[in-house]
Amino acid sequence: MEILVTGGAGYIGSHTCVELLNSGYKVIVVDNFFNSKPESLKRVQEITGKHLKIYEVDTLDEVTLEKVFSENNIEAVIHFAGFKSVGESLQIPILYYHNNITGTLILCEKMKKYNVKKLVFSSSATVYGMPKSVPISESFPLSANNPYGRTKLMIETILQDICAADKQWSVAILRYFNPIGAHESGKIGEDPSGTPNNLMPFITQVAVGKREKLSIFGGDYDTHDGTGVRDYIHVVDIAKGHIRALERIIKTSGIEAYNLGTGIGYSVLEVVKNFQKVTNKKIPYVILKRRRGDIAECYADPIKAKTILKWSAEKNIQDMCRDAWRFQVNNPNGY
Ligand code: NAD
Ligand code: UDP
Repeated sequence: MEILVTGGAGYIGSHTCVELLNSGYKVIVVDNFFNSKPESLKRVQEITGKHLKIYEVDTLDEVTLEKVFSENNIEAVIHFAGFKSVGESLQIPILYYHNNITGTLILCEKMKKYNVKKLVFSSSATVYGMPKSVPISESFPLSANNPYGRTKLMIETILQDICAADKQWSVAILRYFNPIGAHESGKIGEDPSGTPNNLMPFITQVAVGKREKLSIFGGDYDTHDGTGVRDYIHVVDIAKGHIRALERIIKTSGIEAYNLGTGIGYSVLEVVKNFQKVTNKKIPYVILKRRRGDIAECYADPIKAKTILKWSAEKNIQDMCRDAWRFQVNNPNGY
């Protein structure tokens, strides 16, 4: 079965390509390499010993995207391609809306034209806005606090409308919590350009000596140690969730959203402690004021994915730290 993976060279996409190839799927990647390098896909092939087909194509480029559909026998799509930085989305909202939303519309148009109506979409826990309580289940009210979050929310709505209009469509919306870690081979992982915005890549860069210390944003939250709590989940578990979702949409129709989280919340200080423990590296830190837009606590109720997709996270926080560190050590300057 041939699966189109948009954004397949990126962090989560590359790990998902490994799982797809290992599960026997044929993989076709579309990526414009705006936030990734072809090297990640070379390594996916090294890890699996299998070949994937690569198109350097932008989802906004209708003509070339159509060629990908006409040249292959695509049966389902996993759609990762998009911009993902909250901060950047506040600076360049038009680009965010255009890339994420127009890109998805063009993709769906081509899917419809080629009668490909099975889609797994990368959404985010950010669509829960400021949740009234934790753990967060899929039925919680949705809202967004920034342009990035609004693109995810709008795309979810667009996909709902597509499925309402044509009952043949089958869509799984996956709301990721905080993906971290790397493939255990140490060959693929998160490779942010410039200063990392996210916690784990910042920690690994401090540990490897690229940055002096970690800034912890807020020590006065109403959490057990005052620092923010998140549901960190190993990227390989996230990747496996896509395989379960794909298996499900192949057999069904309609649209469902699933949380991909562990259900366990760790504070920033707990992540630092676990990282220090498994790596024997000291992470100097300073506690600063809260980061704008951050919430105190965010973790998933993962029961829906467990019941329906038969998926749950298998790796723990120490696995996540160990694997993130291995990728950093093996690739001090990224790919
Ligand atoms: P990433 O930036 O590593 O991967 C995205 C890939 O899409 C990159 O390879 C990029 O070059 C490509 N891309 C972007 N716009 C494109 C376009 N118009 N045409 C073709 N390719 C394009 O990001 P990631 O962390 O792997 O995230 C994948 C998806 O998951 C994104 O949609 C992101 O919003 C979502 N998500 C990520 C996280 C996270 O913490 N990493 C959390 C929740 C949701
Ligand atoms: N965080 C931090 N310092 C950093 C980056 C993040 O203290 O350099 C905190 C952030 O305030 C939040 C948690 O780490 O409580 C996770 O942040 P991240 O940006 O990784 O993910 P988010 O949950 O914001 O999507």
